[in-house]
Amino acid sequence: MAQMLIGGEWVGSRSGELTEVMNPATGEAVDTAPRATVEEAREAIDAAAEAFKVWSEWTGARRAEVLRQVAGLIHQNEKELANLLTREQGKPLREAVLEIRRFAHTMTYYAGLGKNIRGGYIPQIDEGKYGLIIKRPIGVCGAIVPWNFPVSLMGNKIGPALLAGNTMVIKPAETTPLTGLRVVGLFAEAGLPKGALNVVTGRGSVVGEEIVTNPKVRKIGFTGSTEVGRRVMASAASGIKRVTLELGGSDPMIVCDDADIERAAKAAAVGRFFNCGQACLAIKRLYLFDSIADDFIERLVVRTKKLRVGNGLAEGTIIGPLHTVTQCDEVEAQVQDALDRGARALVGGERLRGGDYDRGHYYAPTLLADVKEDARVATEEVFGPALPIFRVSSLDEAIEKANDSIFGLGSSIWTNDLSRATRAAERIEAGYTWINSAQIIYDELPFGGFKQSGLGKEHGIEALDYYSETKSVVISTNAG
Ligand code: NAD
Repeated sequence: MAQMLIGGEWVGSRSGELTEVMNPATGEAVDTAPRATVEEAREAIDAAAEAFKVWSEWTGARRAEVLRQVAGLIHQNEKELANLLTREQGKPLREAVLEIRRFAHTMTYYAGLGKNIRGGYIPQIDEGKYGLIIKRPIGVCGAIVPWNFPVSLMGNKIGPALLAGNTMVIKPAETTPLTGLRVVGLFAEAGLPKGALNVVTGRGSVVGEEIVTNPKVRKIGFTGSTEVGRRVMASAASGIKRVTLELGGSDPMIVCDDADIERAAKAAAVGRFFNCGQACLAIKRLYLFDSIADDFIERLVVRTKKLRVGNGLAEGTIIGPLHTVTQCDEVEAQVQDALDRGARALVGGERLRGGDYDRGHYYAPTLLADVKEDARVATEEVFGPALPIFRVSSLDEAIEKANDSIFGLGSSIWTNDLSRATRAAERIEAGYTWINSAQIIYDELPFGGFKQSGLGKEHGIEALDYYSETKSVVISTNAG
């Protein structure tokens, strides 16, 4: 039975309530985790508030050393962590390894900023006075994390929050607490003071709500659906809490008539089907210039048919199961809606059944043509392996359609024409635009959505600002 980390101690479920963590590939239980009560969440928050008195006094360089040590420990434990991640989340082992490495990279990146927390200085702001702009940690920060990248998305919050001098209470998704707990345990080995990082497992409506509404929590870093993000923002409003929201997306990919079609088709297959399509930054709408559409689709169909779907631990698996049966039902309903309105499935379009598929939740990688623009797959976020394809006749038409969405997370344009590329980069309403690549994010670049895809930024030096208060100080040198 997995335990929670509260005030530096591993604790079980006091109420006796447990969540069974299931392997999405086989339907077998991997382990259990406590379903925490409001009281346990409060204890974790209190422990973080106590630890803040210690951790916030450490120098940036000393805090950075802890993050650096953690990165090393993550690498040492990579195999075991990746295996556990595949079993609780479902993703292929190869992708689980990438996610574990991404967490380590994020720690290394923020460790590198340890001596770069800086403010400003204004000389002679007034007669005999000068001004300073200083950065202070916010206090206890809550981190609420989803199940699709349970480790790396937790890292996006831990890195900047701890480096800036805050302490934390983390709530993993109920279905994926295990690897995160193992990772957080490594911080103690790296010398993090007790209580600076706490993990409380359980329900969003209990633990999550407490973290969002408890007055001792000053900031919420939330990653999840737009629907729950809206609720988190509303609840946080009563305490005027700082919030960073990383929410849903429906990323457009635009392929122009002068693009490298082969490279773009390969990127579309990876970008849509990585993590079984359960990525906020997945390519979710494809806009092809008319003149290259047939050629592009042919290549994409060939690539999609080759994708081997199965248990993430099995050799050769490229696509794992969907994470839960609810997730699978949702994708099935969205695709069916498109088919009912006249779309054609060029590949897939159905659940996978028979043999080992019947033990998990598997959906065939799916390409949809002739999709109506008001179909659910076009207007909603599709969190699974189905891609609607649209034809366009100009860049302006493509950008207009790309922007016709409540989401604005990522986007990509494929062209060798610099003026087209820059026009798209400036006009697509999204936090990221890739030109001739897609989906790969960098710790160095700020990441966060436009419109209903979110608020605030993670990654980059910018994330430190979202985990700091900016304060003005006036120093008077007039002795009299
Ligand atoms: P979700 O919104 O259902 O849950 C996210 C987290 O919020 C979970 O830990 C959940 O327990 C918690 N939660 C639920 N109700 C809560 C409440 N009332 N108060 C506080 N916390 C609560 O999302 P999900 O299904 O786990 O994840 C998928 C979604 O996350 C997709 O929409 C995806 O696009 C989005 N996502 C966004 C990003 C990004 O960086 N923009 C990254 C990954 C995933």
